[in-house]
Amino acid sequence: MVTIKSDKEIQLMREAGLVLAKVHSELEQYVKPGISTYELDAICEKLIRSHGCLPSFKGYEGFPASACVSVNEEVVHGIPSHDRVLKEGDIVSVDTGVIWKGWQSDAARTHKVGKVSGEVSDLVDRTRESFFVGIKAAVAGNHVNDIGRAIEDFIIPYGYGIVEALVGHGIGQEMHEDPEVPNFTCARRGMKLRSNMTIAVEPMINMGTWDVAETDNGWTFVTTDGLPSAHYENTILIREGEPEVLSLLPEEKKFYGVL
Ligand code: MG
Repeated sequence: MVTIKSDKEIQLMREAGLVLAKVHSELEQYVKPGISTYELDAICEKLIRSHGCLPSFKGYEGFPASACVSVNEEVVHGIPSHDRVLKEGDIVSVDTGVIWKGWQSDAARTHKVGKVSGEVSDLVDRTRESFFVGIKAAVAGNHVNDIGRAIEDFIIPYGYGIVEALVGHGIGQEMHEDPEVPNFTCARRGMKLRSNMTIAVEPMINMGTWDVAETDNGWTFVTTDGLPSAHYENTILIREGEPEVLSLLPEEKKFYGVL
């Protein structure tokens, strides 16, 4: 179901988004060689609760942690583990969400661990950039497919693969609401975007093939060619003009030139 939020509900989603932005920002300092993905998740949960929010991922369809922590060839839904220890040159995506007074926010960042090779570093940067390109099309009156087309037009010239098995989504009191928001062009133009819809736009971009496989743990997706994958996500508010990004800090919005 697609939900159109009231101004009061949007204010609560703004507050949830600000907490999530702070959590991601505070977590970044811990991303270093030697830390395990288990430790990162534990810190993430502590940060979320320290802001008076609940970790929305914990227990979601049985997910065991507060953050999905996915390293290198892991695309999304990495399960935090004591055994997965970050090393110099890795990339790690942290996807997490919060609930504030019943309202959700969802965002992901991919971090570089120490010094990362040039081409992997480019993948991370271009994945993030594709989000900002995509949301330029996320305005009331456009259709959902306009977002995916913008991301695809930006990404494909680099020779990367866009993940098709997983997509962005509406968000509100539920973490996953309609509509689905693909990061690629579809045959159908999709639903018309309306003011006060809130959606999570989350390009998942692979260095090589678009193809991914689910692993034996029943959660984690990996690239089938073993090449790295990056992920970047924010919760946004659809408006008549450019959208408002709800899960960035004010200084980040200024840096990226978004509302
Ligand atoms: Mg999401």
